[in-house]
Amino acid sequence: MRILSRGVAKINTDYSTSSFIHSIIRNDLKLNKYNGRVHTRFPPEPNGYLHIGHAKSICLNFGIAEEFNGLCNLRFDDTNPTKEEEEFVRAIIEDVRWLGFSWDDRLFYASDYFDQLYDFAVTLIKKGKAYVCDLSAEEIKEYRGTLNQPGKESPYRSRSIEENLDLFERMKAGEFPNGSRVLRAKIDMSSPNLNMRDPVLYRIMHEKHHRTGDKWCIYPMYDFAHPLCDAIEKITHSICTLEFEDHRPLYDWLVDELIEGDKPRQYEFARLELTNTVTSKRKLRKLVEGGYVRGWDDPRMPTISGFRRRGYTPEAIRDFCDRIGVAKANSIVDIALLEHCLREDLNKKAPRVMAVLDPVKVVILNYPENQEEVLETENNPENPESGKRNLVFSRNIFIEREDFMENPPKKYFRLSPGKEVRLKSAYIIKCVNVIKDAKGNIVEIHCTYDPETKSGGGASSRKVKGTIHWVSENNAVDAEIRLYDYLFIDEIDDDSINDNDIISKLNPDSLKVIKNCKVEPILKNSLPGEKFQFLRQGYFCADLKDHNSKSLVFNRIVPLKDTWAKIKKQ
Ligand code: ATP
Ligand code: MG
Repeated sequence: MRILSRGVAKINTDYSTSSFIHSIIRNDLKLNKYNGRVHTRFPPEPNGYLHIGHAKSICLNFGIAEEFNGLCNLRFDDTNPTKEEEEFVRAIIEDVRWLGFSWDDRLFYASDYFDQLYDFAVTLIKKGKAYVCDLSAEEIKEYRGTLNQPGKESPYRSRSIEENLDLFERMKAGEFPNGSRVLRAKIDMSSPNLNMRDPVLYRIMHEKHHRTGDKWCIYPMYDFAHPLCDAIEKITHSICTLEFEDHRPLYDWLVDELIEGDKPRQYEFARLELTNTVTSKRKLRKLVEGGYVRGWDDPRMPTISGFRRRGYTPEAIRDFCDRIGVAKANSIVDIALLEHCLREDLNKKAPRVMAVLDPVKVVILNYPENQEEVLETENNPENPESGKRNLVFSRNIFIEREDFMENPPKKYFRLSPGKEVRLKSAYIIKCVNVIKDAKGNIVEIHCTYDPETKSGGGASSRKVKGTIHWVSENNAVDAEIRLYDYLFIDEIDDDSINDNDIISKLNPDSLKVIKNCKVEPILKNSLPGEKFQFLRQGYFCADLKDHNSKSLVFNRIVPLKDTWAKIKKQ
């Protein structure tokens, strides 16, 4: 059973520094284990882009190194040549850096150690702890047994050390076809842990590797490579996700058989899963390759590059990872918490501007034609240092179509016939007439303004209940605005749903593109990646790829309404 971390009570409010892993490290330091060294690593496989789950692991590993004055390596686990690509290596490097972490000169690849790993395998053979097995993959599976039934020993298990050394060397030399032989550890075919039933350590793959080229045609399995790479790099605490818990006895077995002195230890924590989101590279890859999204950095994707393009900040993502903490039990975190962290960060940083997404023209009848007036407005009331900017007021303006109602319900405090509303940082206007086209659509709203009600006009200025945003017709600029909704409709159970079923759970309305929005002229100078609060509409980011001074394109990062804050108050 998995728990949905809905209420704030379930969230670790002491943040991640109080996690069980932190306690283990504090205790190790007290005992002077590893001579007081703390050395972690983040080990992505370069077979896809990093997602928000990886961010949790990155924050944890690099965060621990920072906190305990230790080191954290970035290591590519590139042991599988068929799935790995240079593009992913570059993207992963960019993403970890963007999150704000540094590995100095400690960028490594598991493939850096292929020679050493081969030597370790030879050592195991010489110790009589590994053998070359000619069973096919299906046979190996069959012989392995099940949770209730012990396995059967391979007929090749009793090969002599000399024969094993010879065959393993010839495997390396390329004498045998793919799948014909493997190297296996000789452990225990009746172990209750399936991973200990003579696991495969090396397989034959006649494949070009992105770094070692054609040098190798045998490649180590992850379970063999990982603990030994950790040991080679003198990692102390090897932190990974819970699915590796059952692999820990193998990790320890290999380290005990092959490593002298300090031995790395593996610790497991719960994967991050988010509502309305999948956090599995394989599933995300399916979305990209099937054309369901526009690439790995589509702003709807839960990838780091998607979040970056959408306008998320590294600070907000790190804050989120701190707040969710590190636990031993799986749970699904409400994505509203991530959005809450984002709003908190952007609230202080993002300048306010006015943008009308669905414009309708307002003519202010008693304002002279050709007159223009400069008004002042604050850039960010949450940040006193952000200063002020000018707005130009004139007879013709645009307001949001939904800020006018011909037959309003009670308590509608926006514009309606005979009623008044304040234009932000400008005047109070009153609707006197509505102009419609032949079909009955409103094309113009006619108003009058009260010149005595200029904003900032002191105590004499009248007050009305509603304030709406606006832009002047003369100097507004056009923009394309992209509104996003969740990529998946409901709480999607990432664990149990299979790859094909995720497609049926896609939200058909996850992207809405609105052209010809009218925005303040100041946005003409905005740069790709710059973030703003469009008053009353949410936080927006100039698109990293499509935005330029001739064609303004903004992504909505997140609307203003904060469902998480509401949950907290309950
Ligand atoms: P996926 O299941 O998405 O393919 P993975 O585990 O295969 O991910 P790796 O590149 O092997 O991806 O992951 C690198 C590190 O990130 C590993 O230590 C892994 O445990 C961790 N990690 C992956 N997904 C998550 C997640 N959802 N939450 C926390 N850590 C994660
Ligand atoms: Mg993995």
